[in-house]
Amino acid sequence: MEGDKPTALMCTVLAIDYSKFCYRVCSVCERTLPDNPTSFCKFCNFNAFNSVSTGSKRLFRVLVSIASDTKVFTVICFDRAAKVLFGCSADEFFDFAKLHPFAAVSANRILEGEMFRMTLSKSKGGNAQHLRVASVVPLRSGFLPAIQSLRELYGERVGS
Ligand SMILES: [Zn+2]
Repeated sequence: MEGDKPTALMCTVLAIDYSKFCYRVCSVCERTLPDNPTSFCKFCNFNAFNSVSTGSKRLFRVLVSIASDTKVFTVICFDRAAKVLFGCSADEFFDFAKLHPFAAVSANRILEGEMFRMTLSKSKGGNAQHLRVASVVPLRSGFLPAIQSLRELYGERVGS
């Protein structure tokens, strides 16, 4: 990868890190919150009269290992790009995974081998350990996001 320009490439998903696929943020300011579910946003705290202001939501942040035609490497997929893979919000997926403990493992299996056109860019904010997925487009015409395959797998109707 040369320079800071985003690079587009065709790649195959080898695996996703399903052990930790999301993180909590403040639902108002979207600052990252600790994993502790009772913690709330320090910055919006002053406005605690409004119960909404102490709410949190989950966003996807998932490490994906991919193979291009020349190499294998790990990229980091944030919420917008991950929604293409999962087909739902991180909160929805988290709730689904609570009912179906193997959902994340299955999502890994579902996405494994799928081909995508990804645009990769350097992470902003100094964390340059992994390239960031700026956009992702499935290449297979019959591609289903993980949640749709999972709902079929677990016998739930889409939208139920
Ligand atoms: Zn906040």
